[in-house]
Amino acid sequence: MTTQHSELPAQPLTRLSEDEQLFRDSVYEFADREIRPLVREMDEQAKIPKALIDKLFDLGVMGIEVPDSFGGGGASFFHSVLAVEALSRVDPSIGVLVDVQNTLVINALVRWGNEDVRKRYLPKMAADTIGAYALSEAGSGSDAFAMTTRAAERDGEWALTGRKLWITNANEANLFIVFANVSPEAGYRGITAFLVERGFSGFTVGKKEDKLGIRASSTCELLFDDCRVPRANVLGEVGKGYKVAIETLNEGRIGIGAQMIGLAQGALHHAMAYTRERKQFGKAIAEFQAVQHQIARAATELEAARLLVYNAARLRDSRQPFLTEAAMCKIFSSEVAERVASLAVNLFGGYGFVKDYPVEKLYRDAKIGQIYEGTSNLQLQTIAKQLLG
Ligand SMILES: Cc1cc2nc3c(=O)[nH]c(=O)nc-3n(C[C@H](O)[C@H](O)[C@H](O)COP(=O)(O)OP(=O)(O)OC[C@H]3O[C@@H](n4cnc5c(N)ncnc54)[C@H](O)[C@@H]3O)c2cc1C
Repeated sequence: MTTQHSELPAQPLTRLSEDEQLFRDSVYEFADREIRPLVREMDEQAKIPKALIDKLFDLGVMGIEVPDSFGGGGASFFHSVLAVEALSRVDPSIGVLVDVQNTLVINALVRWGNEDVRKRYLPKMAADTIGAYALSEAGSGSDAFAMTTRAAERDGEWALTGRKLWITNANEANLFIVFANVSPEAGYRGITAFLVERGFSGFTVGKKEDKLGIRASSTCELLFDDCRVPRANVLGEVGKGYKVAIETLNEGRIGIGAQMIGLAQGALHHAMAYTRERKQFGKAIAEFQAVQHQIARAATELEAARLLVYNAARLRDSRQPFLTEAAMCKIFSSEVAERVASLAVNLFGGYGFVKDYPVEKLYRDAKIGQIYEGTSNLQLQTIAKQLLG
């Protein structure tokens, strides 16, 4: 019996369209040329130079999903994933800068912003404005809805009071999506998302954290002391901020998956190059079968992680459920990244342990993948809930 296929044949999951491939390659070439020479200095100084940020805007990776009518790339979520992966191969700190900008902040503005919000902010995001996403607090991380930052109506505006902690991009950002509760007695149904500009009265960016990894990416405290926010700067509806938070984070964690597979790819690349070069017992260490098997296993795990990440992103772009797949891709790719970076350190031997070589940094950077945008335990909880109800 013959079957008639009226639809296109199914595409392999890692097959990219010509446009996607060109985009990914151009972002990687940029990273290799413009970012690689700065990686060590950025890590040591815990800072991203302004000139590099300007180049990221010029490259178009700071407004990937901003519609063309607002000056952005008008591309898909999958393109953001490709950009984060390509950048993270070279520096996961730049990967997360671009990730938060696109998969959290722009994503939330596009999805939840009304016409006025989109018109006011999206062109800026694509041109020169960095965004940050402020949910966590000192006392509320995994239990994010236990936040104590409050918003009250005052003189026809909103007044925010409280503190946020661990906010990525805070040093560079000019626009912050800030979650605060307008009626704590209503529990999570009081949570509201506000758009706070850096210059708003009563708002200050506080202490910058001194971190183990992704050191160039800024992580700071935010302080709100009767910070005045116009009514028009509520993102979505009052009391619906919990939905904004949950839904953007569900998508954002696919971006972290992308950061982790990029990191693992970078580490594996360094390990392969080094083992071909380094000689012991009269031959390249890549010629020892034990080493070959370690590299083969790492490459296999990376391929599996990439499939999970790409599939979650493709599901999201095709408007199909992706909650479980997003959680799976994040937990798995962050574990693979840690294992592959650790292997790379081992294969470099003593040289893997010093800063003259790039792999110790990737090992330090990998750790964050299991912490932010929901710890691994929380991802497992999400997966189990979907499976077991
Ligand atoms: C570098 C960095 C950048 C960050 N960027 C941002 C940002 O831009 N915006 C933002 O809002 N936040 C950001 N965060 C915060 C981050 O999302 C939180 O740190 C994370 O959600 C964990 O919260 P916590 O640190 O309070 O840990 P906790 O929630 O206190 O967790 C501590 C441990 O307890 C476990 N645990 C907690 N609850 C449960 C449970 N129910 N079941 C099983 N185990 C549990 C966790 O898995 C973890 O192992 C960032 C953090 C870091 C370190």
